[in-house]
Amino acid sequence: MNGARLALVLLAATSFLPAQDLKEFEKRVTEFTLANGLHFTVVERHDAPVASFHTFVNAGSADDPAGETGLAHMFEHMAFKGTESIGTRNWAAEKKALQTVEDVYDRIDAERNKGPKADQSKIDYLGMQLKEAIDVAQSYVESDEYTRIIEENGGVDLNADTSFDYTEYFCSLPSNRIELWFLLESQRFLHPVFREFYKERDVVQEENRLRNQPGSSGELWRDFVASAFEAFPYRNPPGGWPSDVDSLRRGMAQEFFEKYYVPANINIAIVGDVDPAQTRRLAERYFGPMPARPLPPLIHTVEPVQDGPKTAIVESRNQPLFAAGFKRPDQYDKDDPVYEVIALILASGRTGLLYTGLVQQKKIVKASGRDTGDAMKLSRDKITDISHKLIVMLKKSRDLRFKKDQNDARLDIVKAFTEILQVEEKADRAARDKVRSIKRDIAEGSEEWDILQKRYYSEELKKYGIDTSK
Ligand SMILES: [Zn+2]
Repeated sequence: MNGARLALVLLAATSFLPAQDLKEFEKRVTEFTLANGLHFTVVERHDAPVASFHTFVNAGSADDPAGETGLAHMFEHMAFKGTESIGTRNWAAEKKALQTVEDVYDRIDAERNKGPKADQSKIDYLGMQLKEAIDVAQSYVESDEYTRIIEENGGVDLNADTSFDYTEYFCSLPSNRIELWFLLESQRFLHPVFREFYKERDVVQEENRLRNQPGSSGELWRDFVASAFEAFPYRNPPGGWPSDVDSLRRGMAQEFFEKYYVPANINIAIVGDVDPAQTRRLAERYFGPMPARPLPPLIHTVEPVQDGPKTAIVESRNQPLFAAGFKRPDQYDKDDPVYEVIALILASGRTGLLYTGLVQQKKIVKASGRDTGDAMKLSRDKITDISHKLIVMLKKSRDLRFKKDQNDARLDIVKAFTEILQVEEKADRAARDKVRSIKRDIAEGSEEWDILQKRYYSEELKKYGIDTSK
């Protein structure tokens, strides 16, 4: 299902190995699928007695049900809360206490759902009861036991991440602890207990608050994506909208789990000092009991065609940030690799065109990035100039859409981008030469120099059909 992404992960791992060709690598790769549909990829690397585990679930925030944004992410947090035997002091009593919490919460929701006719004093009273019920349930919790077991057994890098399209869980352990990993990982997806749900919901809300502080890059990024997508659920932040998160219930996480955490929707990669035959035996033993269930439904929402550039502006006293984005087809599109290459050429680290052009040569931005949530950091006085140029480019790309061959159109967009960077550079150089030829003695960077340079710079740009005064 997620073969393309998995391949990228594995290739990245091999790139650290010297002089290794693809054939050699393939020899050490074993793949198998259990009867229930769960797929395993095992890569032998016996350099060190370590094994790394990566569980990849083909469900992310784009799969959050309407009104329940942030649910995939909430589930990710829940996956670390343990099982019926890990993380509890007394499962039987805890189970009852957890049910009481839900019963009280049901009564709160029933009252709230009356809308304007809801009795606030009743809600407040039930709210107090809810707090008490949560405290009782909490008294049975052995906090962080799951994490502690992994760490006590030499585990490192234990973490997880929820993206738009997928959720991933990973850690590394000494290779003599492989069976322990199989036990823990299978149990949390066979018998998960969503304990401390409402406590964790507060944690998640705090994460969201910190990420989206007014005027922060997080807020800009959130608004940027939300304005780019009108219909497709990418418009919702992976952490969810605060009011949705506030209303998330434990039962919703259970439903999400049952729908999306089905074996055929999960890929597990194991890399390291492992024996593929033994790995397969352990996989059968521990993950075999996961019942096969139908694959979850695909998202059928199609984003309407965008008819022109859209802009999102966030007022901020912080350093100016600028982000520009283009929509691309999904990972199954035959041209998906083309887009990857375009992104690499434009914005891959310190060799990308954006970095060399805008950061190193022009020094007009402090950093550039792509795809990862990193926005370009622009110096304040250049932000207008750049946005004008990009609008010109966006207009060009709009015309390009009507061309027949999509590949041509894409290459033209890259060309247009590159051209604008080159034009910008030429105009800047010409403007500098002009200032120097007229005023030999003024220092570069002085106020007078800047004023002259700016004037000549926009004159030069006009020669290329770019008017920054408009
Ligand atoms: Zn989180």
